[in-house]
Amino acid sequence: MNRQCVFCSIVSGAIPSFRIYEDELVVSFLDINPFSKGHALVVPKRHVAGMADCDDELLAETLKRVRKIAVHVVSVLGADGFNVLQNNGEAAGQTVGHLHFHIIPRYAGVPVSFESAPGDMQELENIAGKLKFQI
Ligand code: AMP
Repeated sequence: MNRQCVFCSIVSGAIPSFRIYEDELVVSFLDINPFSKGHALVVPKRHVAGMADCDDELLAETLKRVRKIAVHVVSVLGADGFNVLQNNGEAAGQTVGHLHFHIIPRYAGVPVSFESAPGDMQELENIAGKLKFQI
């Protein structure tokens, strides 16, 4: 746990999040600045700065969850596809220094802007309520 890290604070429950999934290794919650409806993040519970710092086993286990969560989100929200995005380092657009995978549901004919804009909190809560699940 890194006390300065916002995602460690979410993992510990010190700050609230729109959590949709949790197990012994990862937590998944909605991005508060969503690129699309259902934009979720998957983070390992252990503080790891980025992909280069992550051991093979944790990376593989996290990716298994990313796939399952993405398939679930697409199915529940009726999306037509999804992007997985993972930034490493400030130069690559990483703004939170705790390894995370973005799951960005895509809807046919709906363009996505990869610009941050604050989401509607009530809508995020409603979406999280639909998406909460156990693998
Ligand atoms: P990245 O640019 O890849 O580091 O992505 C970090 C993401 O974390 C951004 O899309 C932010 O909107 C998101 N984010 C930052 N703080 C929070 C938070 N408290 N809850 C949910 N998402 C967050």
